Amino acid sequence: MKKFLSLVFFLSVVAAVISCSTVVFTGRNRMLLYSDNEISSLSAQSYYEFMSTAAPSTNMVQTAMVREVGRRLESALNKYLLAKGQTNVLNGIKWEYYLVRSKQVNAFCLPDGKVVFYEGIMPVLSTPDMVAVVMAHEMGHAIARHGNERMTQQTLTNLVGAVTGQIIEQKTSENGRALFETAFAVGSQYGYLLPYSRKHEYEADEIGLYIMAIAGYDINQAPLLWKKMAESDKQQIPEELSTHPSDVNRIKHLEKLLPKARAYAAELK
Ligand SMILES: [Zn+2]
Repeated sequence: MKKFLSLVFFLSVVAAVISCSTVVFTGRNRMLLYSDNEISSLSAQSYYEFMSTAAPSTNMVQTAMVREVGRRLESALNKYLLAKGQTNVLNGIKWEYYLVRSKQVNAFCLPDGKVVFYEGIMPVLSTPDMVAVVMAHEMGHAIARHGNERMTQQTLTNLVGAVTGQIIEQKTSENGRALFETAFAVGSQYGYLLPYSRKHEYEADEIGLYIMAIAGYDINQAPLLWKKMAESDKQQIPEELSTHPSDVNRIKHLEKLLPKARAYAAELK
């Protein structure tokens, strides 16, 4: 047992050394055990499962708005990362934007950059700036690699489980698939992503605000959108976006970050 524990410790240290990296824009240190390729192929499988049951929206105006906002944010982000020599942030990400037929007030982004908006969210997001708030937040989850981090945390939890006598989960592709499903629960039976942790939500809000700023969108709309949602019927709040953190804290956090976001906008002028 002692030998096994030493081996686990050794492997954990090796993994930490190999894959410790920082999140773009926020500089937070995190550990990622999975490669961008592994995550992309798992995302693609989930996407096809989801889309096999979802119907594309027939509302051409709203579909065009979602795509246009996505492309404008994407192009500003590309320009910014190129200027900073950080295009590796986009490895394994190919942005695609969809609007699907559903009354749910929801949106999500798979780790490989496929962003899905539900028709039900569109009346809440009445302007392109408001669409940009949600879109940039979703893009923030992807470029911060929150999906990979969540799977990594799950893998390490399983490793700890192994030490306490449970079955060890090996990092095989089959287990990768199971972990991905546990981490995201995306697919036909769920149709949405499980909520991220509070830390990831705050980080996606922060990164989203900076992406909006560099794309020239009105960043003041971010706290305003949350105020609007806080005042509206709770049923109207997107699931992915509502669970954590509480509205009040989210608004305060975004307001505090506005000057920093304005600096990003000014830097590119
Ligand atoms: Zn989120």
